[in-house]
Amino acid sequence: MTSAPTARPVRGTHDLFGEELRRHRHVAETGRLICARWGYEEIVTPIFEHTEVFARSLGDVSDIVTKEMYTFTDRGGDSITLRPENTAGVCRAVITLGLHQNLPIKLFYYGPMFRYERPQKGRLRQFHQIGIECIGAPEPLADAEVIAAGAHLLEELGVLKATTLELNTLGDLESRARYREALVRYLDARRNQLSAESQLRLTRNPLRILDSKDEGDRAVVAQAPLLLEYLSPASRDFFERVKDALARLGVSWVENPRLVRGLDYYTHTAFEFTTTQLGAQGAVLAGGRYDGLVKTLGGPDIPGVGWAAGVERLALLLAQVPTAPRPIAIVPIGAEAEAEAWVLARDLRRAGHIVDLAFAGKPAKRLKRADRLNARLAIFVGEEERARGTVTLRDLDRGSEEQVPRAELLSRLAAAQAERT
Ligand code: ATP
Ligand code: MG
Repeated sequence: MTSAPTARPVRGTHDLFGEELRRHRHVAETGRLICARWGYEEIVTPIFEHTEVFARSLGDVSDIVTKEMYTFTDRGGDSITLRPENTAGVCRAVITLGLHQNLPIKLFYYGPMFRYERPQKGRLRQFHQIGIECIGAPEPLADAEVIAAGAHLLEELGVLKATTLELNTLGDLESRARYREALVRYLDARRNQLSAESQLRLTRNPLRILDSKDEGDRAVVAQAPLLLEYLSPASRDFFERVKDALARLGVSWVENPRLVRGLDYYTHTAFEFTTTQLGAQGAVLAGGRYDGLVKTLGGPDIPGVGWAAGVERLALLLAQVPTAPRPIAIVPIGAEAEAEAWVLARDLRRAGHIVDLAFAGKPAKRLKRADRLNARLAIFVGEEERARGTVTLRDLDRGSEEQVPRAELLSRLAAAQAERT
């Protein structure tokens, strides 16, 4: 028997705690910090939207819409979907809030996303993404900035070297349409070599066959015509400018002519930072240009480019584990010292220190707890100390001890703090 259903989380969901939570927070906070430096302001949109927002923007043939969405009818009879990604919600919010009055608008987000998929390492049903969207900038420099900001974030997290930036272009809508025709012609002639899934995609979403994981599909795709050959001169020029800017910014990449984004509204640049360190879950940060999206959602015809990164995947990659903050433990000796200890704890907390004070117990037991919490200092308050007007300050790393006048304690601790940082 496994544990009672009430004590079991829903498949593909996960509790974050301890070291895992610290890794997670470090990724999210570094994302917020670095993206702010690049001029991206945070936005928080609701975790659910009208189903329409995703169905329209993701295209009703995409894998996400057909297989992965958590959709339900609420008590008022509206069809609601837990967001599987945040680009559509951010674009919807830009229209709702009228943010397109001042373009470009550069936004950052962090939060949970929901997809009904087969859970495995680095693949959850509730997971988190950080991401940026640069809306209203048609220039190739915007694509380069967005990618460079992603590279900067990965570098700051110490994982850039563990990743490869794969880069491709889908061209403008006309180039893409011409290519699509050629691709379908090629694949249709080899239809019976394709997986059942890709045979379905052939009419619905043929570009997606290019990044199929199926071995048979891959063999067929290996010889398929390349989009690069169908690019209009303007699309070709756009791609060259993106690459020029990236080179100047010191970002390196490899071209992957078969890299496509699953979604219909992508044009021009498509990119993915991938790693070989997470098994099949290789993509850590991925994005591209989505010039048709805002219009599709009922807004003005303005372009956009952005990326989303998987926080859980980046957290797994972190080489350095962010350390837990170390408290100061207060240890009262004798019943009379208890009340004094509470007040001292309050004063230290007000002064900005992390303080642990157990509710009861002998000094030896309290010291054991201090040890378990990895406290760096213990402060003893007792009969003798009170008589002298001091406290005993023990450095738990060195084992050294000294008497500190009660009146000097705060300034002493502040000085010790400053020394460490
Ligand atoms: P994959 O090919 O791994 O399914 P995707 O193309 O569906 O990825 P995107 O929609 O581009 O992913 O989302 C951006 C990032 O979010 C991914 O690169 C990945 O790091 C992360 N991500 C996507 N789906 C999940 C998931 N189910 N669990 C954890 N992270 C995810
Ligand atoms: Mg996916």
